[in-house]
Amino acid sequence: MVEQMNPGSITDIFVDEENRFKYMFLAFGACVRGYRSMRKVVSIDGTWLKGKYNGVLLVASAQDGNYHQYPLAWGVVDVECTSSWSWFLTKLLEVVPDEDEFVIISDRHQGIINAVSTVYRNAHHGHCTWHFSQNMKTRCKKKGATEMFLHIAKIYKTFEFDIAYNEFRNRYPEAAQYLDERDSLDRWTRAYCPKTRYNIMTTNGVESINARLLEERKLSIIALLDSLQRLTSSWFARYRHASIASNTNLTPTIEGILRSRFTDAQGMQVFELGRMEFDVRSRGHSAIVDLESKRCTCRVFDIDRIPCAHAIAASWLANIDLYDICSQYYSTMSWCMAYSETVYPVPEENEWPPQH
Ligand SMILES: [Zn+2]
Repeated sequence: MVEQMNPGSITDIFVDEENRFKYMFLAFGACVRGYRSMRKVVSIDGTWLKGKYNGVLLVASAQDGNYHQYPLAWGVVDVECTSSWSWFLTKLLEVVPDEDEFVIISDRHQGIINAVSTVYRNAHHGHCTWHFSQNMKTRCKKKGATEMFLHIAKIYKTFEFDIAYNEFRNRYPEAAQYLDERDSLDRWTRAYCPKTRYNIMTTNGVESINARLLEERKLSIIALLDSLQRLTSSWFARYRHASIASNTNLTPTIEGILRSRFTDAQGMQVFELGRMEFDVRSRGHSAIVDLESKRCTCRVFDIDRIPCAHAIAASWLANIDLYDICSQYYSTMSWCMAYSETVYPVPEENEWPPQH
């Protein structure tokens, strides 16, 4: 019935040999299509259900162009393990293709790590830095270690990261040893991530979706599905209004980021190097900007896909419209498209058409 009311939805239920419920998957057609206008980074997370059915609720969420969570798919499984995550991710493939640029973010649950490596073979699997920092505390409780770890994970340039990580290692050797033993740099640092994870360093956003469902997690599965539909519909209604009301070219969050970078760009000296290439200097530092390939040696432009202060300064000299060099993922048009459709409720069972 979900598919009849919401064309393009993907639903599935898996039962074991004795016909006992094992797994459930749900993705609304409106979300499946809305994801097409979004950055290719998806966070996944599981949380315990508290009702009669002691299962786990799984969520996959993208982030819209205004940095808000965008719930893509839901699952209910009996327990979090490699096989349940593999089943969920195999269904998720129909919503989120295993494209080369795709990045999936999660905590370091072994079941997720195993499942991602077999189902999403082309994707990069990044790990949530917040979870990792909490794990790190078991080895090092020194004041300031968590904050410094979270800070260095976000550094853009590998060179700057190496310096900062050495300093971290000197200050907190037990913590650095723990990190080195448990994970590789490409999983938890922005600088060494081989693909683009943008601003998405943690799964905190997807966990906030779970936190909203505190009461719903006590419901039966049918009632839970109903409340997931209501949550998604109200989510869509809220951001549909916000995106339609936005009268700027880019989403409000990105316009805000650009405004703060404008301030930094003022006073920078720009020297033309070649066609669309510029040397931008400020306070004794130099950055090379290529406006054609949308890159800068500071790497902020490359990774955020939003012009850095150097690129803004260069664009003024080159007389190039900033909106032309900002990723279309952040346009108000893309934001509106994400919420343009309606998620309809499934009618009461007695209203269902007769089955033949
Ligand atoms: Zn730059």
